[in-house]
Amino acid sequence: MRLPPAPACGRRWIRWAAVLVALLPLVRLAAAPAPGWRAGLAREAVTPPAGLWMTGYAVRTRPADGKAQDLWVKALALADPAGNRGVLLTADLCAIGREHTDAVAAELQRRYGLPRSAVMTNVSHTHCSPALAGSLGPMRPIPAADAAKTADYTRVLVRRMVDVAAAALERLAPADLAWSEDEATFGINRRENAEKDVPALRAAGKLKGPSDPRVPLLAVRDRQGALLGLLVSYACHNTTLALNEWHGDYAGSAQAELERRHPGATVMFASGCGADINPNPRRELAHVEQHGRDLADAADRALAKPLRPIVGGFASAWADVPLTFSRQPSEEEIRTAREKDQPNKEMHQAWADLVSERQQKLGEAAINYAYPVQTWALGQVTWVALGGEVVVDYALRLRRELGDNAWVFGYSNDLMSYIPSERVLKEGRYEGATSMIPYGKPGPWSPGLEDKIVQQVHVLAAQVRRP
Ligand SMILES: [Zn+2]
Repeated sequence: MRLPPAPACGRRWIRWAAVLVALLPLVRLAAAPAPGWRAGLAREAVTPPAGLWMTGYAVRTRPADGKAQDLWVKALALADPAGNRGVLLTADLCAIGREHTDAVAAELQRRYGLPRSAVMTNVSHTHCSPALAGSLGPMRPIPAADAAKTADYTRVLVRRMVDVAAAALERLAPADLAWSEDEATFGINRRENAEKDVPALRAAGKLKGPSDPRVPLLAVRDRQGALLGLLVSYACHNTTLALNEWHGDYAGSAQAELERRHPGATVMFASGCGADINPNPRRELAHVEQHGRDLADAADRALAKPLRPIVGGFASAWADVPLTFSRQPSEEEIRTAREKDQPNKEMHQAWADLVSERQQKLGEAAINYAYPVQTWALGQVTWVALGGEVVVDYALRLRRELGDNAWVFGYSNDLMSYIPSERVLKEGRYEGATSMIPYGKPGPWSPGLEDKIVQQVHVLAAQVRRP
């Protein structure tokens, strides 16, 4: 039986249907998530009210007077094409302890199934930021009447860090990642160059000691090319200012300057290994603005270069290196710290209380410390995140040994003390020995820590790197 010919409108409908069927694969392709990275960014101000105690300098005698600049917690969440996720949290804080970064990571594990290794925390080490409960306790003992305010702020901060990381994870959307680097030179080796001599030494090209001028930059763009975020790193103490007000120091000024230059972008700062590096000049607001602009200029120069696209996947690894302090303090040392009339007497007394309490609680085990080392692979780039105030020798050595695609962060995940290299440990002085007092540690680290840490980095870097 023959079918009657379709009316003209029916034939047109059939032709359109055929065209639609032919286009279907293209439609499906366009609707499917594009293969590649996804990224999400989030931020929240965590500026405390006036009246909380600050940390970073032992000499402060009163709580913060107020705010000169906001302090921020920011997060960058990343997901690779296979769905492996990680989140980097940066904070305008001087120090944060392991118990708090672990608490953040535990909550993110509960909500999102992220392993501990996939959560990275870095603080800028600004010295115009609040003391947190349990961090750098003896540096500036907090009067008992004010301790509850610090404890409350610390609890709120941990919740905010979780919220910001969660917001970044919820916003994951297709993105392109690329990196580059440039240099900034306001960071000077503070062990080798007296602050007052720096201008003359700099002018004569006679600055001494190692430093790390590199400013690595990660750029996050959406698929239309709009800049969503930047991560900038530099290895230099965030100690331009010694205000009695909240301020992010040069890292805070650089973030604000870059966010002004790139409206809509979230700009994050991660500390490199700048424990023995100081900005110069310092102490005036004009200086912090100058350093902020210098770092922003370096980031913009890096951004103007042909960026290297990050291609590949995400992987993360974590290990605690068993380190030891070289000795327990003697009863005589503890008694002297309690009784001697000396500068920063309260700090020495607080150190004595802390180390003797730890000794009583843990006995011989009081000299042990679980030191966190973390690595991330972002495609061909390797991030190494080390705990503590890490001296520049580690970054220079690891970059030499791991190659130019390695970024090395200090001030990550736990701020337990300075982390001297073997050279700095032997030389002693503040970064090698005496800073253990404000950090409430029993004594200097045992020799051998540099090789233990570096060997662990190599093991973890091999785990995350792909052939
Ligand atoms: Zn420091």
